[in-house]
Amino acid sequence: MRLIILGAPGSGKGTQAARIAERLDMLQISTGDLLRAEVKARSEIGRKAGAIMNGGNLVPDDIILHLIEDRIRQDDAINGYIFDGFPRNIEQAKALDRLMGKVKHHIDAVVDLEVPDDVVITRTAGRRVCKACNAVYHVELNPPREEGVCDACGGELIQRDDEKEETVRNRLKVYKEQTAPVRDFYRAKGLLRSFDGTQTMATLTDQIISALDTV
Ligand code: AMP
Repeated sequence: MRLIILGAPGSGKGTQAARIAERLDMLQISTGDLLRAEVKARSEIGRKAGAIMNGGNLVPDDIILHLIEDRIRQDDAINGYIFDGFPRNIEQAKALDRLMGKVKHHIDAVVDLEVPDDVVITRTAGRRVCKACNAVYHVELNPPREEGVCDACGGELIQRDDEKEETVRNRLKVYKEQTAPVRDFYRAKGLLRSFDGTQTMATLTDQIISALDTV
């Protein structure tokens, strides 16, 4: 099965994508993660993308499409995949249609998580990640035992630059202007399945998995 998950930053789409991928034995393809890996590796793509990401703006479509095509052609994508963070605008959605035609794949369903803005701001601005092992915490919802220190490995907990409140507000604005229309694009194709993203993580995963049973 090949899926897309849509949702504002902080809607929990990354978490749900990982859980769905595990349950359905498919690959999670997160363009945010692919880009962060490029930034870390100081590649040419990483150098171009880093500053754009820190401002909460979208990285150019040609870079994203290149990363996506490369990833879906790898052997581990054979059982299917779920796109997380892609497509982010209508141009990317149309380019994905063309790419699917080219590689003879098709998208089976689009999972859409609905979460109000205030919940998004609280969730995202409170997130902390471990610098060493990438474990994720939240200052209110899932605090570490000791402030600023990772429970798992003792590493330092930091706030991602693009999760500072100012940037989160800009990412929300970008989402509304550019990504929300992608929902309408897939609704018109009859592929969109919307879910209440404020439910507990486990309930939401179960709901999504059972809805996908009928795809
Ligand atoms: P994410 O982890 O999905 O929230 O992505 C983090 C940042 O990476 C975004 O704020 C964008 O700057 C960039 N990014 C991720 N996916 C895309 C995409 N499909 N198109 C353009 N920029 C993206």
